[in-house]
Amino acid sequence: MKRIGRAALVAAAAGLAAGAPLWAGKTGKTNTGRADRVFVNGRIWTGEPSQPLAQALAIRGSTILETGASDAIRKLAGKGTEVVDLRGRFVSPGFIDAHVHLLGGGWSLEELRLDDASDFATLQARVRAWAQANPEARWVTGEGWSYGAFPNGMPTRLQLDALVPDRPALLGSYDGHTGWANSAALRLAEITRATKDPEGGEIARDAAGEPTGVLKESAQRLVERLLPKRLPHENERAFRNAISRAASWGLTGVHQAGISEEELESLSHALQASPQLRVYVALQMERDPTPQLLARQQELRQRYSGPRLRIGAVKGFVDGVVESRTAAMFEPYAAGGTGSANWTQDELDRAVAAYDKAGFQVMLHAIGERGIDMALTAFERAAAKNGTRGRRHRVEHLEVPRLADLARFKAAGVVASTQATFPYPDRNHLDVYVSTLGPERAHRALAYKAIDDAGAVQAFGSDWPVFSADVVHGLATVVTRMTDQGTPAGGWEPQQRLSVEAALRHYTKDAAFAEGAEQERGTLAKGKAADFVVLSQDLLTVAPERIKDVKVMLTVLAGQNSYRAAGF
Ligand SMILES: [Zn+2]
Repeated sequence: MKRIGRAALVAAAAGLAAGAPLWAGKTGKTNTGRADRVFVNGRIWTGEPSQPLAQALAIRGSTILETGASDAIRKLAGKGTEVVDLRGRFVSPGFIDAHVHLLGGGWSLEELRLDDASDFATLQARVRAWAQANPEARWVTGEGWSYGAFPNGMPTRLQLDALVPDRPALLGSYDGHTGWANSAALRLAEITRATKDPEGGEIARDAAGEPTGVLKESAQRLVERLLPKRLPHENERAFRNAISRAASWGLTGVHQAGISEEELESLSHALQASPQLRVYVALQMERDPTPQLLARQQELRQRYSGPRLRIGAVKGFVDGVVESRTAAMFEPYAAGGTGSANWTQDELDRAVAAYDKAGFQVMLHAIGERGIDMALTAFERAAAKNGTRGRRHRVEHLEVPRLADLARFKAAGVVASTQATFPYPDRNHLDVYVSTLGPERAHRALAYKAIDDAGAVQAFGSDWPVFSADVVHGLATVVTRMTDQGTPAGGWEPQQRLSVEAALRHYTKDAAFAEGAEQERGTLAKGKAADFVVLSQDLLTVAPERIKDVKVMLTVLAGQNSYRAAGF
């Protein structure tokens, strides 16, 4: 799993380089028609149950004036109206990714990336090449390695010493939960056999008690805190890169899962300079929110409430992840342990109730069945205690629920925020993820059809840069449950495959619902935001195994082009 779609990245980059100015602004021409722009001769999937398909749409300003047949829509054009012939191309409401880390996404475009190094030899070559190409870098840092790339499922410092002998190196796993340090980095951080494990983390040790170079969870901070700090202008650049990359994937909106105040300011500057994306933001959820802290977070929510940048939520972590066996389970993993929750139920209940009362939506990362149960319980109790309704709290990831718990999502109005590319069944997924879970749990993991069948609102995201936020890749994954190479034949746990329409709905209307914006966006209808994406092929008729080849031709946000592929 966890591969950035390299071909898609290259294609998008080519389009960006060749495309016209991405944010042209108003032309200033006099327009005698009622519409500023009309798009005709398309196959438009509106997402509206009353009129799911249309041929054409008209835009005035930033909103949709009308959708319908090409002849009727043409009549809304006058002198000065831009008429775009879609030539049968497919149009969807703009994609919304309900779970990203934009800053990490932006940095991932510049850093040493190990995402597509699926075996140890490729990984070695990639690290060595980056270190040689960047001799002035004081540290070798990067991310994206997968557990399956290592012979024993975990790396060692000696392996990294052989690749980077001359300076400290720290490389993060694709899921962000494990660090791989070389001996120089451990020395600088003064990590020895005598060092105690920090709270919420583990320094892995060999049989003789020596640190192996693997740093789990919070133990990564012991080395990370020594890295040169990134400056605000560098973060702003990374945000801007992330924003244009998102637009190239057909995204008109994303949900930022957690951010610091300093990063928020950089993001705000980046969006002023590059307003090509709507960003819905979750602040960090604190363990014991004092009235002062809540007041400060409410103040930020009021300050950032615009059409491009809007705060509405806080995000916290209930448990860890499957691969490092930190996701909280009821039954032990095959290799032992039941994972760990970061809170007691009481602590979680208190914090969730405080944020619920203060009007925040709460997003809780919960992956194991026990973590998911804790999150749902906290949401149910907060609503009962505060008498609140319609907060649309969210469980993020919910990878391994007890199937009986799925009904609680609908009953409590909790959004299931899942990630479309998580079930991508490559070697790491099958060798590490599935075998860590064991067959019974794997069978009910990432069960997206079961979530739909339980009547939950399911919003799709990517967790970029954990996975690529390439939406076409996500759609292909949930519809086929196969890799781009067509493996495993028939798909992994194929009973959980989704229809294209269901998948589109989760990336549009349901993701808009998850941020409380479904009245303004998420479908294409009169009066809604003119946010949409034009694709090279008809998603409703293309063969499932060909979805991966569909290209984004044009992304329109608030009536204006935010991305245009070369040749469109
Ligand atoms: Zn995340």
